Amino acid sequence: MSILKMMTASIAVYACTTMTSVSASPQYQKKISITFDDVPIHGEFAVSAESLKQINDKLLAILKKHNIKATGFVNEGHLKNNPELLTSLLSAWKKQGHTLGNHTFSHLSYHQTDLNTYLADIQKGAATTQNVLGEQTQRFFRPPYLHTGATNKAQHTLYHGLKKLGLTLAPVTMENADYVFDAPYTAKLRNKHVSAAEFYQQQYLAFTETRLDFYENVSTKLFAEPIPHIVMLHVNQLNADSLDSILTSLQSRGYQFQSLESTLQNPIYSQPTQAFKFGIHWLFRWDKSQDNKVNWATEPEPSSDVFNAHQQAIITLNKGKL
Ligand SMILES: [Zn+2]
Repeated sequence: MSILKMMTASIAVYACTTMTSVSASPQYQKKISITFDDVPIHGEFAVSAESLKQINDKLLAILKKHNIKATGFVNEGHLKNNPELLTSLLSAWKKQGHTLGNHTFSHLSYHQTDLNTYLADIQKGAATTQNVLGEQTQRFFRPPYLHTGATNKAQHTLYHGLKKLGLTLAPVTMENADYVFDAPYTAKLRNKHVSAAEFYQQQYLAFTETRLDFYENVSTKLFAEPIPHIVMLHVNQLNADSLDSILTSLQSRGYQFQSLESTLQNPIYSQPTQAFKFGIHWLFRWDKSQDNKVNWATEPEPSSDVFNAHQQAIITLNKGKL
């Protein structure tokens, strides 16, 4: 038997003993899209222009190494006082073939803003990006805090408003609370406590694995066939230093990377969900809108120590005391 036939036979046996319907599906190959919020930087504390450039350059280099075309959701407001740097950073993302989406200008919560103000902020947040995109059109939108409307009516109104702007809302199915770990990590690095910073990075990477395990189990419970996933990460120092490990882990889990546009073609992403008063990923939304199969109390959360370290680090970083 040739090696190819042996492989085919073993895949067939595997498929028969697990999920027969999946074996015939074009979705059998695990697929995933990588997205970043808060391009060019997550805004909880000030980051120097030099660090900003280093963080973006490093993320782009790692994406290139893994041959990934990602989608970055832009907050132009973070660099409103430095339009040249903003243009230069966004141009680097575009030049490497990544998609640039909209994340509002001011990082507004839709749950605390009226629709017209919110839509105007989205349009304001497209100005520099559209200059960089040239003839390309901005097509995707990620709502800050994943706030899509606290009521079904508000959610419907937002989707309608986005459609008029030519934007499609980009859901999230996997996220790893990266910003919680990033603040103490960055604070320790700035204070030259490298081993303490590495401690937070190790906790972050371990936590990411527990979240990935959990989301994969949830997906298996919710769907007869594997769905393509959408990972949400933020642009920050921790991810610049950890993205290579995270992408390597996703590859070892069997994922192939694909564009957000390809992932959104799966019909599950057109399925409406009920509204929630809080920001939450779409695995939760789909489950709560239908069968309620998942015990969400078991979703892993960062430890209270990390949450406390995050709070303390934000105060310290913003006071510039390090
Ligand atoms: Zn954001």
